Amino acid sequence: MEKILVIGCRNTMDDVCIGCSRCLVAFNRREGEFKRYEGVDAEIMGILNCGGCPGASIVPRLAQVKLWNMPLDEQPTKIHLGPCLADNCRYYDALVGKIRAKAGIEVVEGTHPYMPAKVWG
Ligand code: SF4
Repeated sequence: MEKILVIGCRNTMDDVCIGCSRCLVAFNRREGEFKRYEGVDAEIMGILNCGGCPGASIVPRLAQVKLWNMPLDEQPTKIHLGPCLADNCRYYDALVGKIRAKAGIEVVEGTHPYMPAKVWG
């Protein structure tokens, strides 16, 4: 069973991308970067914001995910980074570097494929 932790940008998730619904819809439909789970037993076990600029708290936040979920015997097996983070974050490379260095599980860049190309047209 794959257990997915989605990480996004604190400044935008649930404010710009209301309810983080596009990540959840894409996962349920196995679209975008979730296509890899077609026919695979998988769940989203958490949606985590980065902790805010400049992303200094991301590693302690991952540790908190581990801590809070220990009594539940639930831990992520994969991390997915939302486009809110990739498309907007000026600290992206450093943030992803820290996540990759410390997570100890596979980190996939991307979630849903629904970013509109243009506002009009
Ligand atoms: S560090 Fe990046 S991802 Fe986090 S709030 Fe700031 S811009 Fe968004």
